[in-house]
Amino acid sequence: MQIDANYGMNSNNENPRAERCALETTEIAPKLTVTRLCIGSLTVSPMQASLPRDRACEVLAYAFDRGINFTDTAQYYENYDIIKGALSRCRAPERVVISSKTYAYTREDAEKAVEEARKKTGRDVIDIFMLHEQESYETLRGHMAALDCLFEYRARGIIRAVGASMHHVAAVRGASLLRRRGIPLDVIHPIFNKAGIGIADGTAEDMADAIREARSLGIGVFAMKSLGGGHLFSSAAEAFDFVLDSGLCDAVAVGMQSEEEIDSNISYFEKRKFPAEAEKILKEKKRRLLIEEYCVGCGSCVERCRQKALAIKDSRASVDMSRCVLCAYCAKICPMFAIKVI
Ligand code: SF4
Ligand code: SF4
Repeated sequence: MQIDANYGMNSNNENPRAERCALETTEIAPKLTVTRLCIGSLTVSPMQASLPRDRACEVLAYAFDRGINFTDTAQYYENYDIIKGALSRCRAPERVVISSKTYAYTREDAEKAVEEARKKTGRDVIDIFMLHEQESYETLRGHMAALDCLFEYRARGIIRAVGASMHHVAAVRGASLLRRRGIPLDVIHPIFNKAGIGIADGTAEDMADAIREARSLGIGVFAMKSLGGGHLFSSAAEAFDFVLDSGLCDAVAVGMQSEEEIDSNISYFEKRKFPAEAEKILKEKKRRLLIEEYCVGCGSCVERCRQKALAIKDSRASVDMSRCVLCAYCAKICPMFAIKVI
């Protein structure tokens, strides 16, 4: 581990918008150094908090200026313009590591996904590109045409690391198996939290074992949903400690939607302490999925939710909050715009 003490320094040190911090960094893939705190960009985007575009850019730019150099996005999030806007406002855009992901199966669709990311973020190089929401070795194998395309982009230097995101233990094991069989995935992005919330096929311990195996093979790891999509806000310190102390994660992606939240999480990652006021807010903070009364019960959201958190009851969608990780993926496909994460 190293401390990136120079990050965020304005060359003239003039009028800094945000005081830089000294977050710990780590090499998640060869020659790819990231801060251990990654800002998930979905939270400020239309699928979730839906901040006005300018405000969303401002929040991300603040995170970059404070010293977080790592952000996570996806083709599905449709927020590349927000990343681009944030990069244009922050002091050291060249230091920001972007990770994106795609559901592409075919070579053609993978190529389109990478080119879309490059065009819309304004970046020639996308640092990490992953397959989105993989479930097992078999689904990874099923995406080989897309993976081969990503490996070719990596060989050309347009992508620096190739990976996969997952809510399944079997997919983490699948990534290890691919690697053992000579297919060199660099990075995985698994769901990982102390309560096992959102892990589709096992417990937190099962996931930890699978991640341990992947790491032993040299695969970089950045965890998602360490606060269980919001279910663990009231025990946020313990939830972060679980992931940080596990020794299994190079970095942790956390959604943040305000400067206060960014400062608070930076404080925790630097000093293992939340500011007193933030601790109080976290204890009281709640997120939930709202399904409006005008839902017509079409069932599209039920099909989309891989957590199996939705069902049709009395001709309307109904959510089981014990299974929902508040990803808002269902909201995007609702023809009535009846689903919101609030
Ligand atoms: S997709 Fe929308 S309209 Fe259809 S069941 Fe779900 S919430 Fe209701
Ligand atoms: S119900 Fe919607 S927000 Fe909740 S886990 Fe399923 S897709 Fe994600």
